[in-house]
Amino acid sequence: MKTYNMYVNNEFVSAADTREIINPATGEVIAIVPEAGKADVDKAVAAARAAFDTSNWKDSANAMARGRVLFKMAELVRKNAAKLAELETRNAGKPIVESDFDMNDVATCFEYFGGMATKVHGETLNVPDNALNFTLREPVGVAALIIPWNYPLLMAAWKLGPALAAGCAVILKPAEQTPLTALEFAKLVQKNIPELPAGIFNVVTGAAEAGKALVDSMQVDKVAFTGSAEVGRHILRGVAGSNLKKVSLELGGKSPNIFFADADLNAATDGALFGVFINQGEVCSAGSRVLVQQDIYKKFLGVMKKKTKRIKLGDPLKRETKMGPVVSQEHFERVTNYLEIGKKEARLVMGGGPAKAFKKGFYVEPTIFETDNTTRIAREEIFGPVVAVIPFKDETDALKIAHDTPYGLAAAVWSRDIFKCLRMVKALRAGIVWVNTMQPCYVESPWGGYKQSGQGRELSLHGIDEFLETKQVHINLSEAPIGWY
Ligand code: NAP
Ligand code: MG
Repeated sequence: MKTYNMYVNNEFVSAADTREIINPATGEVIAIVPEAGKADVDKAVAAARAAFDTSNWKDSANAMARGRVLFKMAELVRKNAAKLAELETRNAGKPIVESDFDMNDVATCFEYFGGMATKVHGETLNVPDNALNFTLREPVGVAALIIPWNYPLLMAAWKLGPALAAGCAVILKPAEQTPLTALEFAKLVQKNIPELPAGIFNVVTGAAEAGKALVDSMQVDKVAFTGSAEVGRHILRGVAGSNLKKVSLELGGKSPNIFFADADLNAATDGALFGVFINQGEVCSAGSRVLVQQDIYKKFLGVMKKKTKRIKLGDPLKRETKMGPVVSQEHFERVTNYLEIGKKEARLVMGGGPAKAFKKGFYVEPTIFETDNTTRIAREEIFGPVVAVIPFKDETDALKIAHDTPYGLAAAVWSRDIFKCLRMVKALRAGIVWVNTMQPCYVESPWGGYKQSGQGRELSLHGIDEFLETKQVHINLSEAPIGWY
């Protein structure tokens, strides 16, 4: 068992309290980390504030240097990928093969935004006057990065990449359950990137209180948040009650994965399972509503059931494991409670409880329910290996069901008819629409939600906008006085 400190102003420091970190596959304590209270967070904020205000990190002349820092971060992650992936799996319970992919994605994200650091530019505007008018893009300032537990280091990278490329100073707050890879990453940074000014990159560990201290701070200019819609609401209230800092929100979803009768049955059923069971279903864009056209409904459900039986639950450190435990005891109770609700209001097809083969750990059976779109399991985000399968008649009906949700993060459509696919692509109210696939995510393309799934976009050229201000500059070229008075 290891004891960690948190990273503030280039030093590893303790906090008012400590917290035990659990391996969800065993229930055992694997580490002790600081539990930051408001006073601890305020110190990190002060360090970030001072670093942003007084160091040359933010200067446009330093864009190349910022890019190089991000390339170094990428290299550190690539060199230590195996160790980091193993730690991620021990802490979050995700299958090691998925953690390997995550570490590669973390490095790719740093590389992408490292390259972008030198490509942030304004525009010149033709105004109807004897003048020169242009814009400057400047870092928003001190940014709080508050992230969830489902992709711990990857969600950190999605925010660190653009924030650091833009020239911000950052305070990263991992989820209370999964701070370990962020803390190991901070150790690597401290040791290997001395050119990063102290206070530009900080990691505070703790729970909601720490997040709230960041949100309420008058010294923080921006909150970038990924997590639940419920906490998203708290954040908007906190921001409204403090300094109206800028906010971007990546929230949850209840994404429809829509299967028309002409889709390839084998590819489609693979897509239905991958869409919802990857990472134990702990995915914001999970295709947790599988909408199937009536004509193929029975057959489709049969194949889904057959293939779901093949999902190998087990020790997430074993490479053959395809599904690990959910992240915590608390989340296990939340997910299994939904299973009980589902058994009352819908028809259970398979699964439906804790995975009994496991004496330890927070394992849940992959579960399929048949339902319509009115049940709680079809409407509320469960964030576990649970799918609601819902029949539909035709395109109009599919769209009506797809849109009958407060969320709009993602959607997928499966069909061999390109006209139908493109009609659906245009009609669907979601930030990400996949056709004949579900879940691929690329740093080059924007990620974010319509409706109550969030505000703003991460990744891609749009991602850095969330960490930039735009300054208009107007230079008068006429030497004549205004002559108004
Ligand atoms: P969460 O409870 O909303 O927490 C997210 C982060 O916010 C955690 O670091 C959390 O700290 C912190 N937090 C909690 N209360 C806060 C408050 N009042 N003020 C400021 N920060 C606060 O989410 P989670 O349980 O970690 O993750 C699951 C949720 O995240 C799901 O609903 C999922 O849909 C969503 N998610 C969305 C995306 C996306 O890209 N749209 C990606 C991943 C996950 P604690 O750790 O102490 O709770
Ligand atoms: Mg939480």
